[in-house]
Amino acid sequence: MSVFDKLLDGRSLYDIAIETIRFFGEDVRNLVAFSGGKDSQCVYQLCKEAGIECEAQYSVTRFEPPELMAFIREAYPEVKMRRAYRRTLVEDIEVMGLPTRWRRWCCDAKHARTEGFDMVFIGVRGEESPRRRETWRTFGRKQDGTVYCCPIFDWTTADVWEFLNARGIPHCRLYDEGYTRIGCVMCPLAGTRKTRIAEAKRYPRHVAMFRQGAQRHIERARAAGKLCGSFCDSADPAGEMVGRWIATGQVMQSVEEYDAAFRRKPDAPGQCVFEGSGFSERDGES
Ligand code: SF4
Repeated sequence: MSVFDKLLDGRSLYDIAIETIRFFGEDVRNLVAFSGGKDSQCVYQLCKEAGIECEAQYSVTRFEPPELMAFIREAYPEVKMRRAYRRTLVEDIEVMGLPTRWRRWCCDAKHARTEGFDMVFIGVRGEESPRRRETWRTFGRKQDGTVYCCPIFDWTTADVWEFLNARGIPHCRLYDEGYTRIGCVMCPLAGTRKTRIAEAKRYPRHVAMFRQGAQRHIERARAAGKLCGSFCDSADPAGEMVGRWIATGQVMQSVEEYDAAFRRKPDAPGQCVFEGSGFSERDGES
């Protein structure tokens, strides 16, 4: 069935999304949480077609693939880049260490409430995961009071592509390379060991930055007399730290220790598709 086909009540999925956006977005200050991915592109286009006033913002994580940033700059020059952090990435890693799946400061840094808007439209879809379907709604309120609307919550991936292609909207070239989700480079939460290692090879400048931050983190810990992790036993502590991180998403255990500890609980790929959107998985749980 097409996203434009009429359902039993005479409205298509497209009609329902447009009505939803108008219902929540007319005569208020609207923000589109834009990530450069297909879902937020879809929501942004729908908001334009619904005729509401809106501003699109991308929340920079500093872990972005350069292809994504180039695409946004070229195809969406009007999108505002929101930089909700004070230090450089290397400085942040120096102070906080590399972000891990248990300590995702890279997400926290950008989740400060965006002031000046009454409604935020985001591209969350229930099909993305059972947890998402359970915790998010078409309309809701974050714990910080932000009111949001997910107008394509019931759309499938095929619906999104059908709509974007019907409108002739370009997409980031990473999709053409087989990526089904476009996210941060070497995200400790998403992907698998294989994909993180492949990304480390593909994005050596990111790795160099992570390594620089790791080196400074170790020096800072040593200067403060704090205990370093076992990576400090290595001849190349920063290299060991970054290597562990790329392979396992954590730094405290060697790759071998990690594999042994998680033998009963495999390193299943996670999901953090909120990069750039200013939202997190937990935001649905209000
Ligand atoms: S997608 Fe991964 S790297 Fe990016 S902000 Fe979220 S947890 Fe951090």
